[in-house]
Amino acid sequence: MLGLKLEALEAWAVAQGQPAFRGGQLHEWIYAKGARRFADVTVLPKLWRERLGGNPDVEQADPIGRSRELIRSVASDGTTKLLLATADGLSLETVGIPSRDRLTVCVSSQVGCPMACRFCATGKAGLDRSLAVHEIVDQVLTVREVMGERPSHVVFMGMGEPLLNIEAVLGAIDCLCTDLGMAQRQITLSTVGVAQTLPQLAERALERLGRAQFTLAVSLHAPDQSLREQLIPTARAYPLERLLDDCRRYVALTGRRVSFEYILLGGLNDHPRQAVALAQLLRGFQSHVNLIPYNPIEEEQFQRPSLERVEAFRRALQDRHVAVSVRASRGLDQDAACGQLRRRLAPTG
Ligand code: SAH
Repeated sequence: MLGLKLEALEAWAVAQGQPAFRGGQLHEWIYAKGARRFADVTVLPKLWRERLGGNPDVEQADPIGRSRELIRSVASDGTTKLLLATADGLSLETVGIPSRDRLTVCVSSQVGCPMACRFCATGKAGLDRSLAVHEIVDQVLTVREVMGERPSHVVFMGMGEPLLNIEAVLGAIDCLCTDLGMAQRQITLSTVGVAQTLPQLAERALERLGRAQFTLAVSLHAPDQSLREQLIPTARAYPLERLLDDCRRYVALTGRRVSFEYILLGGLNDHPRQAVALAQLLRGFQSHVNLIPYNPIEEEQFQRPSLERVEAFRRALQDRHVAVSVRASRGLDQDAACGQLRRRLAPTG
């Protein structure tokens, strides 16, 4: 039921031989109150609840479709990382990141990821499957429940490549906005780029949501094709020039700016000369660059650059009139890099 709109829940209630208003009650209990199980929706007739609620020990039998919490890991700064189990027993990560005036949920769009970016812990184990709408929305509801606070922002920066799961990602954005009352502008979709999908994302967003006001963040990570290919093997099939052309088309179709993410790997892509090349590459783009100092992962020997080095890179961009920010690392003491909590449960390699 999670992921269904009011009208669909009403139609479902009617198909069950119940009056339509029961759908409205379900809607309120699932989204506003965060009911986990059908049996918890105590405004519904007891008999109906008992018939459909199933056995609370058998998670799959419950029609609402919430996940089960496997591990909770809370960092000293309050960042709360959760490992959740899907109905079919797969595990995925979601993170609640509190700050003074916001609570951001970093959601996964897939279980695992097939993109295999070299610096990314998630990519080491490959893809299990894409997530469905309810499994994405569940992450936001679960963080709300665990942290006792309404999430203000959602970023698709957890496990997975959102452009390989466009329909469910847009369905989840639709649900977050329509049913949970979030604004599209508070949602960011991060992608490393998949050939031929950016214009499709724009078109489908306009069709499904009426507008595309969420922020698109593109993981660039290198100012030239050859270094990008070294870091991101899938970039071979999608040259930087084409990726940037598609970004321009995306801007033209949606009227929204694109922002770029750039992971800083000490001695590899963090030279001020590379900042100059990046500024040149993005000339004419009304863009924003978000620098992400590398979060070390076990399998690789990349270096996290020093603060001075990060600052020099930032300044070189700023001097060339590129809007730039540095992402503060949160929850570093608790396996901050995406994919690390999951590996604690099921070590690979
Ligand atoms: N697949 C999407 C979204 C998930 S990753 C994408 O690639 O954009 C979200 C962001 O975290 C990406 O910019 C990714 O490059 C970055 N990231 C992955 N591993 C990291 C690490 N070890 N340290 C810092 N950033 C990392």
